[in-house]
Amino acid sequence: MPNPPAISIRALEKTYRRRGKGSTKHALKGIDLDIPQGSLFALLGPNGAGKSTLINIMAGLVLKTSGQVTIWGTDLDEDPRRTRASIGVVPQELNIDAFFTPRALLDLQAGLYGVPKADRRTEALLETVGLTDKADSYARTLSGGMRRRLMVAKAMVHSPPILVLDEPTAGVDIELRQQLWANVRDLNRQGVTVLLTTHYLQEAEELCDRIAIIADGQVRANDTKEALLARLDGKELYVTLALPLPAPLPPALTALGAQPVSGDTLLFRHRRLDGLVPRVLAALAEAGLAIADLRTAEADLEDVFLQLTRPVATGNQAA
Ligand code: ADP
Ligand code: MG
Repeated sequence: MPNPPAISIRALEKTYRRRGKGSTKHALKGIDLDIPQGSLFALLGPNGAGKSTLINIMAGLVLKTSGQVTIWGTDLDEDPRRTRASIGVVPQELNIDAFFTPRALLDLQAGLYGVPKADRRTEALLETVGLTDKADSYARTLSGGMRRRLMVAKAMVHSPPILVLDEPTAGVDIELRQQLWANVRDLNRQGVTVLLTTHYLQEAEELCDRIAIIADGQVRANDTKEALLARLDGKELYVTLALPLPAPLPPALTALGAQPVSGDTLLFRHRRLDGLVPRVLAALAEAGLAIADLRTAEADLEDVFLQLTRPVATGNQAA
């Protein structure tokens, strides 16, 4: 039997009520989501999709309206203390006291979580996030990327099995982004389940093994990166033969993923067409099949992402 999910979310709803103004915002509209143990999971979606709301509910920072959230086997409603102990959260907004040093900050946080002195991993955490050299510098002297990494270390002081990062690289320059990603990958390799939100497709694609696409408070897609990319990858090659398709198809063509789409036309789907086209042509020639027509179609990942996250046409306009 596979392990139970690290996080399990069922029928989760959130409506923000703005007191006084009487306006409301239906931010989460029935979210069902499982985050597998050990995964590096991206919650990908445009601004306003509901990502931070979802994260903040898990972290106990926002109250859900209805639905069920189970974290590391514990229901959020039954034992919020325990669920909080199971996740470390790096919030979207960084607020670090400028006059703390990384070492002092990590010690303080460990104290808040009741981690005994003997069990503290301050030095190891500083090392993991590459801040050993800066351990005793005031936080105000750290760059944006260093602060973000310090927040990752801070989220990990109580050794939670799950690390949650909300928009980890927003506002972090490219060089430091690479280092942060390396830190996150390291933690994941050490067995930590990582959930991050991002509105950068590239970040989800490069860093994560599973991606859920969320838009307008709903999950639009949820799959392994490979399956999602295969599904989203719109690079298509249509080959129409001079004669009806042979049955069965020559194995060389099936091996290239040929799918019959009509009596005389085959479709090949691929991430990239370069490389595929010559192989298809060679396989057809070898099978003695003449080509009547050849057509390619492509939608790039960004297009399909936009397509999946486009607002559904309802009267319910976002604020
Ligand atoms: P994301 O993190 O994906 O950008 P959020 O979860 O921050 O999205 O926001 C989802 C929606 O809920 C947005 O329309 C946002 O304006 C609204 N929202 C977020 N927080 C509040 C709040 N405290 N009060 C009212 N509306 C909110
Ligand atoms: Mg957000």
